[in-house]
Amino acid sequence: MTHPLLELRAVHAFYGDVECLHGVDLTVADGEVVVVLGANGAGKTTLLRSICQLVRTKGQILFDGAPIGANTYDIVRRGVSMVPQGRGTLVDLTVEDNIRAGGYIRRDKDVESDLGYWYEVFPPLAQRRSTLAGSLSGGEQQMLAIARALMSKPKLLLLDEPSLGLAPIVVRQLFDVLARVCAERAVAMVVVEQNAALALGMAQRGYVLEAGAIAVTGEANTLRDDENVRRAYLGY
Ligand code: ATP
Repeated sequence: MTHPLLELRAVHAFYGDVECLHGVDLTVADGEVVVVLGANGAGKTTLLRSICQLVRTKGQILFDGAPIGANTYDIVRRGVSMVPQGRGTLVDLTVEDNIRAGGYIRRDKDVESDLGYWYEVFPPLAQRRSTLAGSLSGGEQQMLAIARALMSKPKLLLLDEPSLGLAPIVVRQLFDVLARVCAERAVAMVVVEQNAALALGMAQRGYVLEAGAIAVTGEANTLRDDENVRRAYLGY
């Protein structure tokens, strides 16, 4: 029987005693791009943190048909990688050491050829491989955070607001690269994004979170045509 790559069934999430997600159902198929939209505080980051078990959850989270488990390290080993909001690059390490750090869980011998692939995908990083990550521009840091996350060879990449604080032209380049990675490496993605138009352009499906619950879900095209979604997230 085929099963989704990721499946959330009635997931609740808690900070201490405060419940911030209230029974979320969500699926992601192999290689699929899913966008999560929602206002500030709707619970988008908490949703990504729930998948990685960085926050206490109730309900079922299945990855590759089996419970995701409680240990974040094991979750990464099974093929889930997250690019947090704010990027979290290691500012005192070089670009190359940051990317290599992303491959720390790998046991295969393809790290070197993969490094070459990521430099080809992200040319600005190739030019600055010996530069300290802390002196990169915002766009380069975001690329670095994504390249680092992809070095663990994930089946599922979780991206929290990748366009935040970046110039429009840089954002466009970034989404082009994400689409390429998705096509060439068959990496599924859950993208939390304020730039709804761009994210819906890349995604197959989307979810709208409101106050910790899924308010709307559907094909990306359908969501783009939905009047409420248009007004709230697309601005027309
Ligand atoms: P934003 O777009 O502003 O990042 P979001 O949709 O990602 O918002 P979350 O950051 O997931 O929303 O927050 C969901 C709710 O959980 C909010 O009410 C927030 O105040 C609360 N929350 C988030 N992080 C914590 C925390 N560490 N401790 C307590 N409450 C938290």
